[in-house]
Amino acid sequence: MCALALLAAGCGRAGSPPAVGPQPGKLPRYAVDQGFRLPDSATWKRAKARGHLVVGSKEDQPGMGEMNPATGRYSGFDVEIAKMIAASLGFDPRTQVTFKAIASANRETALQNGQIDYYVGTYTINDGRKKLVGFAGPYSIAGQRLLVRRDEKDITGPDTMSGRKICSAVGSTPYQRITEDYPKAVAVAYDSYAICVDNLLNKQVDAVTTDDTILLGYAAKKPRDMRVVGPQFSKEPYGIGLPKGDKALGRAMNAALTAREKNGDWKRAYDATLALSGVPAPRPPAVDRSLTS
Ligand code: GLU
Repeated sequence: MCALALLAAGCGRAGSPPAVGPQPGKLPRYAVDQGFRLPDSATWKRAKARGHLVVGSKEDQPGMGEMNPATGRYSGFDVEIAKMIAASLGFDPRTQVTFKAIASANRETALQNGQIDYYVGTYTINDGRKKLVGFAGPYSIAGQRLLVRRDEKDITGPDTMSGRKICSAVGSTPYQRITEDYPKAVAVAYDSYAICVDNLLNKQVDAVTTDDTILLGYAAKKPRDMRVVGPQFSKEPYGIGLPKGDKALGRAMNAALTAREKNGDWKRAYDATLALSGVPAPRPPAVDRSLTS
């Protein structure tokens, strides 16, 4: 019984810790489209002149976008998506992509003021954001859930949040949903989910809420301390954020996503990163051509 539980959850003290980080040897290499040109895209032309792409992502979301402070290297599914797109745009992901960590609340400004060329970081496509930035995708679909301490008994889903402190990130769709649709929950906001998780472990808050992709990554790092509970209570289609109006870039990205899904790169990237949080690769969603028409 115990041995079975150990195997299933990988949570026994005697057992070895679960594999939680991407294994660099298993990450796909993306073929670079050497002759690629996109003269209709101001963003692409600027990057080409600069000699490299500057891509925004997250730095503290294990499995999705995480920076190793010892090496400065970024890893995760979002990072892989960013790299395969770069390769399709004619940039070598190993030498011609610089990552920049941008928090949820700062994504639109970073794209508007040219701080980054594009953004891949658990970024939900929605109408409000479409007024400010362009999108390609979706390349994945997540849903909002709850992360609690392992010994939590009373928070089991979105209907059990009354009077409890629920933490999320400023400028995110999950935070907005908690404040608007669940007024009995006590909403707490920080700049990032990693700060929320620290506060959960210190018992300053009772739960962390955001996309399941993000929460499962934190839970996989500390399975003895935290678990993800309850059903998904939203649909979060992830897009690649780009400067508004650069339709040529959006179309090239959608074509790149479709091609990389077809040639197996998307699945290889998923299997080497997000799958380590325990969820096998779903079928990728179809790209939405209306985003770039
Ligand atoms: N996908 C949600 C959003 O874009 C939550 C994750 C995040 O904050 O990056 O707001």
